[in-house]
Amino acid sequence: MQHAPRSPIVTAMRVRVVENRMRMTRSQGSGSMSGKLRRVIVRIDTDGGIRGYGEAAPWTVFSGTVEAAAAALHVHLRPLVIGREIGRIAAIVEAADTALHGHPEAKAALEMALFDASGKALGVPIHALMGGAVCTTIPLSFSLANPDLDADLTLATDMAGSGINIFKVKTGFLDHRTDMHRLERIRAKLGDATDLRIDYNQALAPISALSRLRAMEQFDLTFIEQPIPARYPRAMAALTDALDTPILADESVFSPEDALAAAQCGLADGVSIKLMKSGGMLKARAIAAIATAAGMPCYGGTLWEGAIGLTAAAHLIAATPAFTLGCEFYMPRYVFLPEQAEAAMTIRDGQIVVPTGPGLGIAIDEDILDRITVESFD
Ligand SMILES: [Mg+2]
Repeated sequence: MQHAPRSPIVTAMRVRVVENRMRMTRSQGSGSMSGKLRRVIVRIDTDGGIRGYGEAAPWTVFSGTVEAAAAALHVHLRPLVIGREIGRIAAIVEAADTALHGHPEAKAALEMALFDASGKALGVPIHALMGGAVCTTIPLSFSLANPDLDADLTLATDMAGSGINIFKVKTGFLDHRTDMHRLERIRAKLGDATDLRIDYNQALAPISALSRLRAMEQFDLTFIEQPIPARYPRAMAALTDALDTPILADESVFSPEDALAAAQCGLADGVSIKLMKSGGMLKARAIAAIATAAGMPCYGGTLWEGAIGLTAAAHLIAATPAFTLGCEFYMPRYVFLPEQAEAAMTIRDGQIVVPTGPGLGIAIDEDILDRITVESFD
């Protein structure tokens, strides 16, 4: 019997907490972010000299904490990967799930680093490891989430001029009348040809959701994302049934098991998939398969990832036909200060360009990483 060639062995792992300053306030139905934003960057080194990078970007009101993600990586996941071959990704993911409950952001970061290193070792982009690209670019949606509506209108007009034609308006952090007024002004300013969506981040109460969402339907929305809390699946299914506008599940679907439950009860018409919820690309793939089987299209969602996490997700989308609703991979370009972005993503004519180089296919600037690091574990 012939043995497969050995892949490089992980010899070291560095976990950093990094801090970015944000250019603007971002408000959502579940909370606001402004000022400083912390993420976790992991780097694995191998005996072949190849490095792999991953990222965890949790949000306290959505999933977990930066502190917990860093500790999960440093204390609990490190022993599972040191001394292992980088190509044993599925086995390491399974070991991580056995050893540690939850912490999907930390697990996603580790898996990304293994995919990045494996792609580099084989000289192919991550999407080639996932079946090959079905697209080379992904339509980009920008989320209008600034409490200052005039600032958002100016920014959206600018972006429309650069080819971005999809905008997701964050609703539910202000009262319903104000949200109606925002939608009126945004629709009037951007025109009928613009693809508009709204996202409540669970802000509505089930008792008032239907009448408010019916009023919102006049704005010709592509979808309404997570109008009510995930803990009310029957009410969410009833909204999906009652409204003409498709409902997208975000906070309701973290895992493949959640996706299966959603498909079985008609919870939503589509799914937002995030590596920070699923725990990585392999499980995101499983969610996309379930969604496809249930006739639900997928959207590339995010928490607060920079270029590492978003590029990993771009490779997944490039190799997964289920993602027909675009993505929101704009943070490094539009929200971080340019001098604090550790890598760049290419946006052309309103589309994310999927890298074609080995691994993630982006150049990580270690000097910038050093400058934004506030804590390091190795
Ligand atoms: Mg959302």
